[in-house]
Amino acid sequence: MKIKVLGCSGSEMPNSHPPAFLVDNSMLLDAGTVTSLLTENAQSKITHIFITHAHLDHIKSIPSLADNMLVNNIKHKIEIIGVKNVLKALKANLLNNSIWPDFTNIPSHKPVLGLRSIEVGKRYSINGYGIIAGKVNHSVPAAGYIITDSKGRRLVYTGDTGPGAGLWTRVNAETKTTAVNALIIEVTFPNKMKDLAIITGHLTPALLLGELKKLKKLPEKILITHPKPQFSKIIAKELHRLGIKQIEMLKEGKTYVI
Ligand SMILES: [Zn+2]
Ligand SMILES: [Zn+2]
Repeated sequence: MKIKVLGCSGSEMPNSHPPAFLVDNSMLLDAGTVTSLLTENAQSKITHIFITHAHLDHIKSIPSLADNMLVNNIKHKIEIIGVKNVLKALKANLLNNSIWPDFTNIPSHKPVLGLRSIEVGKRYSINGYGIIAGKVNHSVPAAGYIITDSKGRRLVYTGDTGPGAGLWTRVNAETKTTAVNALIIEVTFPNKMKDLAIITGHLTPALLLGELKKLKKLPEKILITHPKPQFSKIIAKELHRLGIKQIEMLKEGKTYVI
């Protein structure tokens, strides 16, 4: 499985982009940064977008991607996948014919976007991948994903989460024999901002350690996303001090093969 990091920052600045991960050229995990980085040809290969939650930094490239699909007369529909409340918020607040046209109805005979809601804990086969959504603990409805490819390689992506994600129960059930190959998990704030992290549904390095202890098997790679760029140096130091060798902060533009 090939994961290209389009963005992995907890806010937008020059050289720091909101989260989006391109898996095997065709699937996106979140869509905070897509059209400003991918060529039209690369955009046209996207068929599925898994959204963790409806916060703007995770969805904000969807409008321009839909627009480009229409203008370039791309024939396939992009399926946007998420749990019900996330898709409801996306439709009500973004693709609502007010903030942006409702591309789930444009063109009316063959819309460029489709919405597909999936249920937490159920097993799906989508685009040739095994998909399970698991609840995470954020300030709005949110779910992370367990993604398994045809070779059995397994990626877990949390999106934004505070402590106590129900996702871990699903991960433990799926990893009785082999560990997850890569976990992409958020750390947004440094340790001194623990209170803010908990109120806003995010993690610090110390809180991350607490979450990792809930896993029966430590993932082979633990890749950190969503740090606030203002704190990324101190977060990196605090992560290093945890002494877990497979923890690594993700780098924008880099491709990880798991
Ligand atoms: Zn969020
Ligand atoms: Zn976010």
